[in-house]
Amino acid sequence: MADCLFCRIVAGEIPATIVKRSEDAVAFRDIDARAPTHVLVIPMAHVAAVRDARGREGEQLLGRLLQFAAEVATELGLDAGGYRIVTNTGKDAGQSVDHLHFHVLGGRKLGWPPG
Ligand code: AMP
Repeated sequence: MADCLFCRIVAGEIPATIVKRSEDAVAFRDIDARAPTHVLVIPMAHVAAVRDARGREGEQLLGRLLQFAAEVATELGLDAGGYRIVTNTGKDAGQSVDHLHFHVLGGRKLGWPPG
C-alpha cells in the first residue's frame, strides 16, 4: 500500500535497522524502543492487523510470523532472560500503524499487565 509506513520500509523507501529477513517477513528495530531490545516483526505483504489474517492463509502467515519472531529473539540473545511478543489491534490497544506487526520486547523485567 503506497501510503503505509511499514510497506514503505519493506520497499526500502524509508530507512530502518533491519535485523532479519525471511521470504515473507522483516524484523527491524523500533524507532522508539521501549526496552533494551525492541524489534518489530512484520509481513512483507500488507495486512492491516491480526484480525485481518483470516482463513488457512492467515493461519499459516501468523504461524510463520510468530516462529520468525521467536528466531529473532533467540538471535538477539533474549532466550535466557525471556521476552514478550505482543501485537496491538485497533484504537483501544493503541495500534498506531495499520500494518500487522509483532513487538518483540526484552532485555529488562517487563511489567504485567501492560498499561
Ligand atoms: P503500535 O503502536 O503497536 O501500532 O506500534 C507501532 C510501532 O512502530 C511503535 O512502537 C513505533 O515506535 C514504531 N515505529 C513508527 N515509525 C517507525 C519507523 N519509521 N521505524 C521503526 N519503527 C517505527
